[in-house]
Amino acid sequence: MSSKYEDVIIGLEVHIQLTNLKTKLFCSCSNSYRGTEPNTHVCPVCLGLPGSLPVVNKKAFEFATRLALALGSKINDTFWFFRKNYFYPDMSKNFQISQYNKAGGRAFADGGKITIKLNDKKIDLQLNRIHLEEDPARLVHKGSIATSPFTLVDYNRSGVTLIEIVSDPVMNSPEEAREYLKQLKSIVQYTGISDLDLEGSCRVDANISIKGHARSEVKNINSFREVERALKWEIQRQKNLLKRGKELIQETRHWDDKRRVTIGLRTKEFEKDYRYFPEQDLPPFKIEQKFIKEIKKKLPEMPKARIKRFQKDYGLSEFNAEILVLDKDIADFYEGGVKSQKSYQSEDYKQFCNWLKGDISRWLNFNNKSIKDTKLKPNQLRDLINFIKEGKITGKIAKSYVNEMMNGTELSEIMKKAGKKRIADMDIISSIVREVLSENQNIVEDFKKNPKALEALIGKCMLKTKGQLDPEKTRKTILNFIKKEKS
Ligand SMILES: [Zn+2]
Repeated sequence: MSSKYEDVIIGLEVHIQLTNLKTKLFCSCSNSYRGTEPNTHVCPVCLGLPGSLPVVNKKAFEFATRLALALGSKINDTFWFFRKNYFYPDMSKNFQISQYNKAGGRAFADGGKITIKLNDKKIDLQLNRIHLEEDPARLVHKGSIATSPFTLVDYNRSGVTLIEIVSDPVMNSPEEAREYLKQLKSIVQYTGISDLDLEGSCRVDANISIKGHARSEVKNINSFREVERALKWEIQRQKNLLKRGKELIQETRHWDDKRRVTIGLRTKEFEKDYRYFPEQDLPPFKIEQKFIKEIKKKLPEMPKARIKRFQKDYGLSEFNAEILVLDKDIADFYEGGVKSQKSYQSEDYKQFCNWLKGDISRWLNFNNKSIKDTKLKPNQLRDLINFIKEGKITGKIAKSYVNEMMNGTELSEIMKKAGKKRIADMDIISSIVREVLSENQNIVEDFKKNPKALEALIGKCMLKTKGQLDPEKTRKTILNFIKKEKS
């Protein structure tokens, strides 16, 4: 942990939409509102019309149970929903149906933890609770919220199920918060309850304070990526005020992701302002042990177990296994590839991993895509790696194929195209090999002890010809020349 942040305290409230549910939390309107005309996925319940009554979506309890089990939280056997009263156009009935863990109320589940690794140190970050609530409507501003001349409201989102994961105030730096969210995202992905790559499927409120001073709550950070940035900005703001001898006030601030600053919207409401009371339109709910056991049985393999299995089955280091497993789609791709070839040995498992965490991940990051959005199939990557192993292409040439492969061109087609430009004339190859060997006597010496140095020599030949030499012929020519030199 950097000493820059040693007096910082951060707690996060993460709201995740259960996007994999079919319907909203209290009505039968469709959950998938993205890309639809505003205010078309609505009914009297999610519009909050007088006389309408909510009916709970039981599948939401199943999803919440999955997540609670995955996070090691204790599921409460009975709970009620509460009304959180407030006046704002995003909730037309003037209250949000939520949960409350005071006044006799209980959260859906209490406790749990998320383990992160930062600078090679494992840290357990304690959770406070998990609860279910309905999503408010979406407000659309023109430009920045602070200067927009109007606000539009779209009730399609109103009533979509949110699960809120509240951490204890246990994080001490923006980096810890970033790692916490990374692990949480991974766990959510494995439980199959939500697709967090969908826009607006997660929102974060962050409580930030400097030890001994009032805290501010930064609301509506609309993506996990923005959290670290927002936290850094807010910590700096608070520290600058303290440096100038000013005192901090408890307030709610808004993260403006266009200007990348937090802005004060109002001084913080206190809990009493929400006049929480039990939602009388819904009965108390009971979660039976039998129900929990059933779900536990069906719970897929979670990241921690998968990391252990990857180490055991494929001989990967803990570090490599963690990188692959973090994104379930990458881990599935890996297993799809390595399982398709029975003859794989430990070096092959490692090669496949290196390609995924190296060139493939770089391409995905650069293009801001996840592997399932690309056309690359596990068996294509397997073939590419095999061709390198068989000496049909060099590693360097293989790398130059990545972009086309990701965009869906078949490997055979890329190789055919490359073959047309290929130089197979033995006179040209011999003359280039002769040149390269005389210029790189140190590598030739190295080759006598380390056969892998051959790759470097092939690479040098390719460099001179923009990769156009026939790799197999080049390889043979180099070996012949070196053999002749020796004798
Ligand atoms: Zn509805």
